[in-house]
Amino acid sequence: MEISVPSKCLTCGSADIVRNITMSQAVEVGSIGLEYRTAVLITRTEDLLADLCKECGTILRLHVKNPDRKWITKS
Ligand SMILES: [Zn+2]
Repeated sequence: MEISVPSKCLTCGSADIVRNITMSQAVEVGSIGLEYRTAVLITRTEDLLADLCKECGTILRLHVKNPDRKWITKS
């Protein structure tokens, strides 16, 4: 499925956008991501991917590779 993503920065209009930057690799302790549970109830995190405008530094989009998880939410 083709997902439509912004081709230009919504803030400054630049098309100089770096896509799918992994956030967890930039963190030294642990990882930042969205938590979910596996079938054996182990908590894991799905890496957050960011699309960044190189012109003004705005993060255009945060997303994960696999949205089909048993997400842990605060009710
Ligand atoms: Zn920008």
